[in-house]
Amino acid sequence: MADILPFKKPKASEKHRGNTLCKSGFHQWQADKKTQFDVKLGKLVTRYRCNRCSKIKISSD
Ligand SMILES: [Zn+2]
Repeated sequence: MADILPFKKPKASEKHRGNTLCKSGFHQWQADKKTQFDVKLGKLVTRYRCNRCSKIKISSD
């Protein structure tokens, strides 16, 4: 009888994979606030923040 648990610590690898995804441009975007008015664009925009690396992008759709 041998009870082997090969994946005892998955967290570290998951975090590493997340960083790899971010570096590849696959961010985990989450809407920061519903909408706000961008003075430069002159219209309402939605701001997104990545859950993993906290990068911010603006969507003007
Ligand atoms: Zn990211």
